[in-house]
Amino acid sequence: MDLAALLDRIADDVAPEIGRGFVADYIPALARVEPERFGMAVAEVDGAVHGVGDWERPFSIQSMSKVFTLALALSHGDGLWARVGREPSGNPFNSLVQLENEDGIPRNPFINAGALVVTDELAQRGDAAAALLEFLREESGRADIGIDPEVAASEADHADRNRALAYFMASYQNMLHPVPAVLDQYVRQCSIAMSCADVARSALFLARHGVRNDGSRLLGLSAAKRVNAVMLTCGTYDAAGEFAYRVGLPGKSGVGGGILAIVPGRCAVCVWSPCLDARGNSVAGVAALDRFTTLTGWSIF
Ligand code: GLU
Repeated sequence: MDLAALLDRIADDVAPEIGRGFVADYIPALARVEPERFGMAVAEVDGAVHGVGDWERPFSIQSMSKVFTLALALSHGDGLWARVGREPSGNPFNSLVQLENEDGIPRNPFINAGALVVTDELAQRGDAAAALLEFLREESGRADIGIDPEVAASEADHADRNRALAYFMASYQNMLHPVPAVLDQYVRQCSIAMSCADVARSALFLARHGVRNDGSRLLGLSAAKRVNAVMLTCGTYDAAGEFAYRVGLPGKSGVGGGILAIVPGRCAVCVWSPCLDARGNSVAGVAALDRFTTLTGWSIF
């Protein structure tokens, strides 16, 4: 398969979709991104990386960070599952309603409440955002990956909903650390800026059933399977069914317009285009992944 040629074709095919939808504007720093951007990268398990468009341009990874923090938390054991579930929520990613009905246990690690629990779990070993940055720098081989300070400051200024979720869980004894400390680490993990190439490279351990780029093992086979399974069922906000239907791969999106998808045994794919649909997934990004699995036949089904 000539992946470079394939990516060129996909970029042509989805060109009419680029700019359709709306750039996330809940914080000013994200609203300023250029809507017409599009990039896509495929990292193969042998380390080869191919890309098209803006595939080397950093963007705000936002909720794609949740895949990596989940994996890091599970690398220390599966105690996390006593504090967070693994069912799709069927509610918006920042909903408070379900938490009350379910006694402060978030439905899954990819809604905001669940991701805050994961960050809190990691915080037992030090700053979660720092641990995440270290991991991403090692996997991508890029020491210059960092936190966008403007996005982080803007997120921190608009964090009342996440703060409410965290305090609510604290009232159910489902926060180990003070809420301001957990929130600070969560905001910084979401504000990391990376390119499609670096995200795809950093996620290869999920395509290799838990094995990192240096050959060491981050996750056992079961834990790697579980991260992929939760991505498939819960990774694309309230549209995981539609995403599985169209793309047929484990995926995790972020409001920055990125989507990470995994083809187990073969490759990790990251696509970025900032305009989102009503459920928060990149319009051109979903279309590109749809074309990718259609043209390659590499869905998991
Ligand atoms: N920083 C965002 C928040 O917590 C992440 C949103 C997302 O990408 O889903 O609200």
